[in-house]
Amino acid sequence: DESDFKSSQRFSQHMGKKNEATSDFAKSKTLEQQRQFLPIYAVKEELLNIIRDNNIVVVIGETGSGKTTQLAQYLHEDGYSKYGMIGCTQPRRVAAMSVAKRVSEEMGVSLGEEVGYAIRFEDVTSEKTILKYMTDGILLRESLRESDLDTYSCIIMDEAHERSLNTDVLFGLLRDVVTRRRDLKLIVTSATMDAEKFCHFFGNVPNYTIPGRTFAVDILFSKNVVEDYVEAAVKQALQIHVQGRKGDILCFMPGQEDIEVTCDTLTERIEELEDVPLAVLPIYSQLPSDLQAKIFQKAPDGIRKCVVATNIAETSLTVDGIAFVIDPGFCKLKVFNSRIGMDSLSVFPVSQANANQRSGRAGRTESGVAYRLYTLNQYKHEMLLASVPEIQRTNLANVVLLLKSLGVQDLLKFHFMDPPPQDNILNSMYQLWILGALDNTGALTSCGRSMVEFPLDPPLSKMMIVAAEMGCSAEILIIVSMLSVPAIFYRPTGREEESDTKREKFSVPESDHMTLLNVYQQWKTNGYSATWCNDHFIHAKAMRKVREVRSQLKEIADQQKMKIVSAGNEWDVIRKCICAAYFHHAARLKGIGEYVNVRTGMPCHLHPTSSLFGMGFTPDYVVYHELVMTSKEYMQNVTAVEGEWLAELGPMFYSVKESAKSRHEKRAAAKERMSQMEEELSIAHEQIKKRKKE
Ligand code: ADP
Ligand code: MG
Repeated sequence: DESDFKSSQRFSQHMGKKNEATSDFAKSKTLEQQRQFLPIYAVKEELLNIIRDNNIVVVIGETGSGKTTQLAQYLHEDGYSKYGMIGCTQPRRVAAMSVAKRVSEEMGVSLGEEVGYAIRFEDVTSEKTILKYMTDGILLRESLRESDLDTYSCIIMDEAHERSLNTDVLFGLLRDVVTRRRDLKLIVTSATMDAEKFCHFFGNVPNYTIPGRTFAVDILFSKNVVEDYVEAAVKQALQIHVQGRKGDILCFMPGQEDIEVTCDTLTERIEELEDVPLAVLPIYSQLPSDLQAKIFQKAPDGIRKCVVATNIAETSLTVDGIAFVIDPGFCKLKVFNSRIGMDSLSVFPVSQANANQRSGRAGRTESGVAYRLYTLNQYKHEMLLASVPEIQRTNLANVVLLLKSLGVQDLLKFHFMDPPPQDNILNSMYQLWILGALDNTGALTSCGRSMVEFPLDPPLSKMMIVAAEMGCSAEILIIVSMLSVPAIFYRPTGREEESDTKREKFSVPESDHMTLLNVYQQWKTNGYSATWCNDHFIHAKAMRKVREVRSQLKEIADQQKMKIVSAGNEWDVIRKCICAAYFHHAARLKGIGEYVNVRTGMPCHLHPTSSLFGMGFTPDYVVYHELVMTSKEYMQNVTAVEGEWLAELGPMFYSVKESAKSRHEKRAAAKERMSQMEEELSIAHEQIKKRKKE
């Protein structure tokens, strides 16, 4: 469609100039036309009528039909914002930010005023905000302060088909809120047709399907099993590109590293081709937001675009003009690994449902082609029909802590759409028990109550609390903030040695945590300078974020009346405090650079980037922040600790005298507590079953 093509191009020019006056007539007209072109526009009145007549409605629509950007605006236009904010939750941070920005442009207001967003450690809303986009985790935490969510007149639970952990928990909570608040509208949206389950869960509420407008997609499977999906994807993209048929390319990759390699390789090979330029654009959650916005812009002079994305582009973000999809068939998932007793992030095959969503992205504006880099046989026999909801595969420690503090005594009585496996609940309760957040009966302790206040994983919250008692909270506050912002250092290709040398200068030989502290303190001494960061191969933006996180965490600590005190020169106490939060992640020296987990005996290795690596100093005991599985099991962020500390701080695991008897007793006692909890839970479980029958 020629006219549509032109209007998008004009639109992209406006996107390029950020600070242009929002009253620009041409722009608002163009955006308005785009809004009216969306499938949801044709059914606007019908949808609003159903919402007027029902408190809960499930809305189903193809990706790109306008659910995320339009629904909230329609509700506002229909007057609901007079009675409270219209909130829209997203499972992904990038989507919350990007969509809020788009909607603020459509409404001609500055982001953060009438339209805003909130993600962890970043609140871009104000008194004026009436449309609030946020991660589901934010709304979940808000329900802690205000269990009826009184500041909202409508809540849109977007991307429900994703079944993210927090969305699933919110389902259970909101189901009750709606019975208490007759004035609240709850809209659940999904990109897939099997939304019956949602309707049923909320008590057979009505659903509405937005009529789609999709084009045919040719699905091509690989003939042979693909060994290297990055290489295969690059080849496929080049082949599409030189063939000449018009249309942009969307290529999926499991994570940031693969995306970077794909983009670099593709750019290199395109340069070799000389006269056929291609705009290669990455998108993943850690990418700076100005670069993220680029994927939505039309490339200049009809140059073809190739977007390389994580599964963020599966349903959360819609890029127009895609005619070709390349799908390696993998994604990264966080899965609770019972062997090591914790979550690990690994690459898994996607489900058939995901694969079909991915292919669908090629047929939004014209007919397209999806290249699947796996065989039909793999699709049929190695891929699940639908992916397992997050709640059934991850660590639930955070959720358990939240629900306990909301007064949900018995977690098996909580109304989950798909209850998590009992083992997961028990394991998470056990983890909270060893951190002192739950008592022997599974009830929240005062320590647990303070832990909930921090938007952090339980061990980090615990570290904050212990730090106040031990007298090193000023330092721990910085360490925790540094751990909350990934990718502080960078290592540009071609300058690896130079950046490594600079990085080594910060090294504190006994602790990566203290190395992070050292970086922050030197940055502070240098007046929080960005130039200083650049000189030391440190991301200035990340450091600014750390400073912001620090001040937010400090605010919470102040509210909690926690003293912020410095340990001065007493650096041992900082290590001991880290040990108090991570004694369950302890490892013992076994060979050179080789450690084993103290409890499970599983090998774990020092990472070459660790301050402890190759320093000629190998402590007998260390604790670590997390284990990352790549070619080996690597410990990330390691701190040397004393064996006695482990015994003192984690008596349920370790004893000084490794006498068989006491160790045996300890294990028996821990087992006893586990089975006690288990018993209580199974009694509860029976009660639920009974109630369901009645
Ligand atoms: P849905 O939620 O149904 O998948 P959206 O409301 O996200 O649909 O998208 C509707 C349209 O809005 C898309 O086709 C796209 O053209 C446009 N759009 C959405 N987000 C952005 C953005 N950040 N920048 C530019 N255009 C966008
Ligand atoms: Mg959407």
